[in-house]
Amino acid sequence: MNILQQLEAIVGPQGIICGEAVKDHPACVFMHPKAVLRPASTEEVSQLMALCNEQGQAIVTRGGGSGLVGGTIMSSEEILLSLERMNQLEQLDVRARTAVVQAGVPLQTVQEAAADQDLFFPLDLGARGSATIGGNLATNAGGNRVVRYGMAREMALGLEAVMADGTVLNSMKSVIKNNTGYDLKQFFIGSEGTLGVITRAVLRLQAAPISHNTALVAVENFEQLIDLLGSADKLLGGGMSSFEVMWSNFYEAVCQGGERHRYPLANDYPYYVIIESLGADQAADDQRFNATLEQLFEQGLIADAVLAKSKAESEAIWAIRDDVEALMALFPYFVFDISVPLAHMESYVAAVHKRIDEAWPEDSCCITFGHLGDGNLHFVIRAAGEYESAKDKVNDIVYSELRERDGVVSAEHGIGLEKRPYLDISRSEAEIELMKTLKRAMDPNNILNPGKIFEL
Ligand SMILES: Cc1cc2nc3c(=O)[nH]c(=O)nc-3n(C[C@H](O)[C@H](O)[C@H](O)COP(=O)(O)OP(=O)(O)OC[C@H]3O[C@@H](n4cnc5c(N)ncnc54)[C@H](O)[C@@H]3O)c2cc1C
Repeated sequence: MNILQQLEAIVGPQGIICGEAVKDHPACVFMHPKAVLRPASTEEVSQLMALCNEQGQAIVTRGGGSGLVGGTIMSSEEILLSLERMNQLEQLDVRARTAVVQAGVPLQTVQEAAADQDLFFPLDLGARGSATIGGNLATNAGGNRVVRYGMAREMALGLEAVMADGTVLNSMKSVIKNNTGYDLKQFFIGSEGTLGVITRAVLRLQAAPISHNTALVAVENFEQLIDLLGSADKLLGGGMSSFEVMWSNFYEAVCQGGERHRYPLANDYPYYVIIESLGADQAADDQRFNATLEQLFEQGLIADAVLAKSKAESEAIWAIRDDVEALMALFPYFVFDISVPLAHMESYVAAVHKRIDEAWPEDSCCITFGHLGDGNLHFVIRAAGEYESAKDKVNDIVYSELRERDGVVSAEHGIGLEKRPYLDISRSEAEIELMKTLKRAMDPNNILNPGKIFEL
């Protein structure tokens, strides 16, 4: 039997797609892997991995395919392992505030199941409908509420992963505190499918917020923006759940002269910030939120503000921030996801804007926005010209300016293939060497997503 027949013997005909039929799988529009595996259980994943390891067969694990760094790009020699059939929310324990899920469950399914029980899963991002919990953990996803709840890493109490040789590592504890030696689940979280296949997880849920306050505020300069972050956090007494900044060029590009979104505030300020607070008592929290905005005005930190008075108004404000689709018209564009210490952020953004303008004086723009509360910025940079050569030049500008400012090339999307050449900007030689040592120890035949993050 050849390897495909042996794999089929493990998962059955429903669990494998081969030959021309591969093209019909949504993950394979631009790629043609040797086969697509669709296991239905951890036991099947374990057997598949053991066989692939024995035969040196490379595997690329895929969740929802919403990753932005080429983490699931495959060659025709590789096999795609899709978690699409392992998509069950197995258990939701209301009193313990935990959910036990299979890795292929979409993020939104967990959010909705938690909400149905008056609980809250705080991880949130634009691709919530397609991104899976396995993918969220494999990329240590961030999103809009990191400033209060942390990243995906903070939300997993336990994990089950299948190692390269098929060993099932069951670390499905549901306790918050567990200092019994190394925290092994963290090896898999953020490792982008290079150290194991995440198959299940125990997620930590929170009490559902009862009050919800949102405002869009305008700010005159960068210094005030940083002071505003500190003051708003302090005045809201720990209730601040988002602090999302949009540079004026983002606000303009998305609202499109008022045609795509009505302008909640005049469009002649340099910065706009969405401040969101979640709490437990709507009346008291309304009062605190209003008083906070008043004080921020008095402190001269905000120039104008609009307060959402209903869920619809809050959604209309968030729709501006979430409308990255409006930027598609800028094609050819390049998307970035960097972190830089707040002390260097203004000079960093100015340097990138200046160099992009100088390099493409006739046709370029550098749309800027992000999760400033976490030091994380996104750029959508349009640079006209031949795609590949423009890409290298834009990458060089964005990443080289980070080096001297102690920035990192990926705040939340990961490294994948796209950012691999720039890993050394954020990591020392010793760090990269230790990562490689771990990879060699956990995947000696280099079959798990080979070539992603770094080359061995
Ligand atoms: C509109 C939009 C908005 C986004 N916003 C954000 C944001 O705010 N914050 C953010 O962090 N990201 C964001 N992303 C990026 C993306 O949604 C996240 O990286 C997400 O966590 C990926 O999940 P996925 O299931 O789609 O993973 P995939 O794209 O399928 O895979 C991503 C990586 O994880 C690996 N992987 C997937 N599943 C597993 C598994 N079970 N075991 C081991 N490895 C696995 C893959 O091999 C790959 O390397 C956004 C993407 C889009 C399209």
